[in-house]
Amino acid sequence: MSVDCLAIAAHPDDLEITSGGLIAKLRERGYEVAMLDMVAGEAGTQGSAEQRVKEAECAAKVLGVSARINLGLSDAHLQPDLETRAALAQKIRDLKPQLVILPYWEQRHPDHRVTCEVGYDACFYAGLKKAKLSGEPHRPRKIIYSTYYATNAPAQFAVDISEQFERKLEAIRCYSSQFPPDGKTNRVFIPGVDIFEYVRLRDRELGIRIRVDYAEGYVQKELLAVDDPLKLGGVSI
Ligand SMILES: [Zn+2]
Repeated sequence: MSVDCLAIAAHPDDLEITSGGLIAKLRERGYEVAMLDMVAGEAGTQGSAEQRVKEAECAAKVLGVSARINLGLSDAHLQPDLETRAALAQKIRDLKPQLVILPYWEQRHPDHRVTCEVGYDACFYAGLKKAKLSGEPHRPRKIIYSTYYATNAPAQFAVDISEQFERKLEAIRCYSSQFPPDGKTNRVFIPGVDIFEYVRLRDRELGIRIRVDYAEGYVQKELLAVDDPLKLGGVSI
């Protein structure tokens, strides 16, 4: 099985919050998308690993993705070591994505930062002919980074997710162990902050900047190649 896009994050529920709108949009456009969580989330304050895996499956169904993978690495002890790089690189070879979505490189949670680092390294390693992996070498054509959790990181581009926004919220609601409907413990993401209010505010703020209802922000590291500046997206000053 191969996919067009592989979205990678540390914990189940990260991808829904950071990129749920873009993932749903890519699926609507007919692209094959796989979601990959590095850990099962067993060290989280709320909910067991089994419960979080079930919630992840529920959210994957809502977003309509082709596959959801959990690498099953150790929660809160994620390291950018060679084993982790190899495990992720093997998935990249198996799935052959053209686009990879990673978390931004500066993060409050160490697992998120490590996922960015090891994710980049795995994309490179998967393309090496002599890498100790099975299958043919493959390197994604493009890596983009979600600036969602990195509030000080300015997005370079914003994706209009207005039509996917309610589905994004529905996917986040699948995580009832983390964000129960009574709202009482909707506070695990940032203490004292309701996740649904936060997501609405963040996506709305970016949406306003590109004159749509809701948007998600991303950056890329490599220089953007532009053939025709007149066809660049965005709004007037
Ligand atoms: Zn996380």
